[in-house]
Amino acid sequence: MSYVFPVPIPSVPIAASELRFPVHRIYCIGRNYAEHAKEMGSAPEKGEPVFFMKPADAVVSDGRDPRFPSVTKNLHHEVELVVALQTGGRDIAVADALECVFGYSVGVDLTRRDLQAAAKAKGNPWDIAKGFDDSAPIAPIVLSGGRHPIAERVVLSVNGTQRQAASVADMLWSVPEIISELSKLYELQAGDLIYTGTPAGVGALLPEDRVQCSLDGWCTLEFGFSR
Ligand code: MN
Repeated sequence: MSYVFPVPIPSVPIAASELRFPVHRIYCIGRNYAEHAKEMGSAPEKGEPVFFMKPADAVVSDGRDPRFPSVTKNLHHEVELVVALQTGGRDIAVADALECVFGYSVGVDLTRRDLQAAAKAKGNPWDIAKGFDDSAPIAPIVLSGGRHPIAERVVLSVNGTQRQAASVADMLWSVPEIISELSKLYELQAGDLIYTGTPAGVGALLPEDRVQCSLDGWCTLEFGFSR
């Protein structure tokens, strides 16, 4: 087969490897930590999972700085555990879900909070608030090798000052539960990334800020914004 023009396949580096992880889709879950749900004015309970997507080419990696997005006057950081899938399927049982996991990373679900608030108020979709260019910075993916984050902390600092820190044990929907729930709605595939929700402490970023993140014991990510 030949194509009229080449389109690059978005990908993320794999830690300690020359190989890259090709990105098929980016799924995200909202309101997955009670304290963050509260700060956003939602009920701090499990309820129904809130899913949305970003385009695959929203990933930013390899030390590249994201472009500061247009239009927004309130760009927010949301640090999140990211799950990378090596297999998928439909209607995956919770007990089988971790077999789909290739590895883990830490990422930031960059959010145009002002546009999201306006969309919520009007009952409109979140796409322009969540799925914009360069909206998914991510660290290199660390191979699971049978290990899974249990109570590791996700941490985010801005210009050296800590703003977010919480244990992934505080997630309302666990990684296996998220995979199982998503697989009821979509056929999951190798190459899917899942941003698993952010803890409390989200806040605004300015074009001159530098952001430092970690998933304790797994990986770190640092970026600023390109002009
Ligand atoms: Mn998020």
